[in-house]
Amino acid sequence: MGFLLILYNRLERLKGLRRMEQIACNPLLGLHLQELTTLVEEFGQPSYRARQLFEAIYCQRVEALEQISTLPQDFRRSLIERAFNVGLPGTERKFVSSDGTVRYLVACADGQTVETVWMPEGDGGESGDGSEADEATEGTRRVWERATICVSSQVGCAVDCQFCLTALLGVKRNLSAGEIVGQVCAVLNDQRVSPPQQRVNLVFMGMGEPFLNYDNFMKAVRLLVEGVGIPETRMTVSTAGIAPRIYDLGAEVVRPKLAISLNASNDAVRSRLMPINRKWNLQRLISAARDFPLRNREKLTFEYVLLDQVNDSAEQARELVELIRGVRAKVNLIALNPGPGIEFETPGSERVLRFQRILVAAGVPTFVRRPRGRDIYAACGQLKRTVELTAVS
Ligand code: SAH
Repeated sequence: MGFLLILYNRLERLKGLRRMEQIACNPLLGLHLQELTTLVEEFGQPSYRARQLFEAIYCQRVEALEQISTLPQDFRRSLIERAFNVGLPGTERKFVSSDGTVRYLVACADGQTVETVWMPEGDGGESGDGSEADEATEGTRRVWERATICVSSQVGCAVDCQFCLTALLGVKRNLSAGEIVGQVCAVLNDQRVSPPQQRVNLVFMGMGEPFLNYDNFMKAVRLLVEGVGIPETRMTVSTAGIAPRIYDLGAEVVRPKLAISLNASNDAVRSRLMPINRKWNLQRLISAARDFPLRNREKLTFEYVLLDQVNDSAEQARELVELIRGVRAKVNLIALNPGPGIEFETPGSERVLRFQRILVAAGVPTFVRRPRGRDIYAACGQLKRTVELTAVS
């Protein structure tokens, strides 16, 4: 009898623990004001508590509910009892490059990791001829006037671009809106930087294809604008070319600027490099680009990764000019960041500069993006892959 009772108690405890585990983590990060309002009302609290929570989570970027001193003690306690937490992701690894770039491996609650990169003096996809790279120093402390955070949208990626290291990881899952915003908050906290007082640009150019996680990505954008205080005009989202979502983005009231990873001047080369081109080819992609409603003085960005002898010839530069003729756009060229498992090579600077010269001569503003943090594995997906490979070997 006693034995059965112990067994019964054990089972009940286990069940309880499992239930606890399922709800163990109810992150508030990722909820917008309306959702927080519903939540505080469920707790019998006045709705202005939602605004206090919103400000603490997104503007002050607290790490724990205990820190929110504007909330009454007992409300904080009941939130914690019901297993709510802020849900800020941890930074599992941090690599600092000699050029000031800091690369973070950010850990989600389920143990999955993604890369987030801090680039002081980063060009935010806005310029990038390298001339702004001069480091300003004040004593031993590096000062910066603006910085760019490169944010991931998925764990891994399904798009399978042949030159990209993230592609080799495959796609594990989408990131939630909270996990996307959380990367930015974690990096801002680590760098002790607070927008809007300090100028921060965001580029959604980390791991993953933002347009294959469109709703979470857009929710994150709204939270970053309204909560964290980063203006939408300082954000750029980059897509491999999910044409229907380009139209969706164009219809958004609040939206980042758009960059399209072109990487080839014709369908034959593009389909080889980016299999997604078989689904939405250049004609469909460029039509979407032409139809994209640009704001005053806004330009679209075409990104073009130069691969030696594959897409970097003079003829292809001229073909590119024709392809994008009439689109209000600039081109960002980046020489391939090589990596293990990538079959392509980086062109020499004379080929890169020739490509740039042809575009510029045809009136296309064209910039060569500096590779950042090469010494700490700068290419997209390279850090996570390197860490994983090291862990295996
Ligand atoms: N999926 C999105 C965003 C992530 S990739 C997209 O494709 O745009 C961000 C940028 O990095 C893209 O322009 C992509 O072409 C580029 N990129 C990927 N791998 C690279 C590499 N090995 N070297 C240089 N640029 C790379």
